[in-house]
Amino acid sequence: MTIPRLLIVDDEPDVAEFLAEVGRQCGYDVSKMCVLQEIQQALAERPPQVVTLDLQMPNLDGVQMLRYLADQKVKAGILLISGTDARVRSTSLRLGTELGLNMLGTLQKPVHIKELEAFLQRAIPNVAFTPERLKQAIENNELIVHYQPKVQLQKGAGQVTGVEALMRWQHPQRGLVPPVEFIALAESAGLMGPLTERVFAIAISDQQSWRSAGLNLTMAVNFSPELLTDLDLPDTMARQVGKCNGDASRVTIEITESGTMRNIARSMDILTRLRLKGFALSMDDFGTGFSSLVQLYRLPFNEIKIDKSFVMEFESNPEAETIVRITIDLARNLGLSVCAEGVETESAYRRLGELGCHLAQGYFMSKPIPAAAIPDWVRKWQPPL
Ligand code: C2E
Ligand code: CA
Ligand code: CA
Repeated sequence: MTIPRLLIVDDEPDVAEFLAEVGRQCGYDVSKMCVLQEIQQALAERPPQVVTLDLQMPNLDGVQMLRYLADQKVKAGILLISGTDARVRSTSLRLGTELGLNMLGTLQKPVHIKELEAFLQRAIPNVAFTPERLKQAIENNELIVHYQPKVQLQKGAGQVTGVEALMRWQHPQRGLVPPVEFIALAESAGLMGPLTERVFAIAISDQQSWRSAGLNLTMAVNFSPELLTDLDLPDTMARQVGKCNGDASRVTIEITESGTMRNIARSMDILTRLRLKGFALSMDDFGTGFSSLVQLYRLPFNEIKIDKSFVMEFESNPEAETIVRITIDLARNLGLSVCAEGVETESAYRRLGELGCHLAQGYFMSKPIPAAAIPDWVRKWQPPL
C-alpha cells in the first residue's frame, strides 16, 4: 500500500511539530504549512488522505479554509483542531459536512496524543476502501446487521418492544467496521440502495426467526432520504415483508431529518404510501437538521427520535436538557411517539421516564449486538425498579 499523506494546516510551529511527530509515528508522510499558496500547491501535487485544520489562524480562518477545500472538492478526511469552545467546533464540523467534506471530527487544543492517534489510525485503512471493494462486500455477504434494543419507559415500563437494525461491514482484514467509515463512500458511489436492500432483507428475516422462537419485536431500519425517489419502494418493501410472513405494522423506517429530500412531492408520495401499507415512520436524529418542524408538519411521521448528542449530555448541560424536554413535549402534543437514543446511564433512563419519553435506546441497556444474541439478552434484561 502507498504511504498515506497528512497535511497539517496550523500557524503555531510548536503545535504543528507535535501533530507532525504523532502523524509520522502513525505511518504518515507529513507536511506542515499555513500559507494558502503552499496549501494550494500541496493539494494539487500531493493530495493528502488526512488534513488537520487549525480553526484560528491570523490570515485565514478555518471556515474560509473549509469553503476553499470544498471548492477544490478535496476528498481527504478533515480533522478540525482548535482552542475555541465546543460549540464553535461542532458548528464548524457540521458546516464541513454540509459543504460535502469528509469530516473526521474535532480535537481541542491542547491536543491529547491518544485522541489524535485514534483519528489518524482510523483514517489510514480508509484509503483501501473503494467503491469496487464495497460492491464486492455486498456480493460476498460481508455486510452484517447488529441490533440494539428499544425499551418502553411509560406503559409497560421496562419491556423490550423492539430493536433497531444497524449495519456493519465484517471485513476479512479490518474486522468489524462501523457504518460511519463507509456510508459516505456508499453514498458517493450510489451504493446506498443495494446496501439498504440487503439490511432490510436481513432484518426482516431475523425478525421472523425471533418470532418463530416466540419473541415478537418491532424492527426499525434506517433509510437515507436520498432513497426516497423510487415510487415503487413501498410496494417492493411490502412484498418483501409479505414474503417472510411479516407484518408491516411491526416495521419502522427511520429517516434522518438532516438529509436532503431532493424532490419533496416524490418523498411525500412515497412516505404516505409507506404509511398506507402499514409501515411506521420515525424522524431520526431529531434536532440536528435544519427543517425539523416543517417536515414534521407536512410529512406523516409517527415517531421522533431525539438525537444522542442531546441525550448523552442532557443531565449535565441545561441547554441539552431544554431541547430534550421540549422535544418530548412536542412529540406528545402532536400525538407522536418519542424515543431517546444514546441513553448511557441509569439516571438518564429514569429522568427520561419522568419527562414522559416513551422509549429509550442506548448503551445503558445494550450496545448493538448480533441477531443470535438478542433472545438471550431479552431474557436476561432486568429493568431498573
Ligand atoms: P443512528 O441511526 O443515529 O444510530 C444510532 C447510533 O448511535 C448507532 O451507531 C448506535 O450504535 C449508537 N449508539 C446507540 N446508543 C448509544 C449510546 O448510548 N452511546 C453512544 N455513544 N452511541 C450510541 P452506529 O451503529 O455506529 O451507526 C451510526 C449511524 O450509521 C446510524 O446512526 C445511522 O445513521 C447509520 N446507519 C447504520 N446502519 C444503517 C443502515 O442500514 N442504513 C442507513 N441509511 N444508515 C445506517
Ligand atoms: Ca437510526
Ligand atoms: Ca442519531
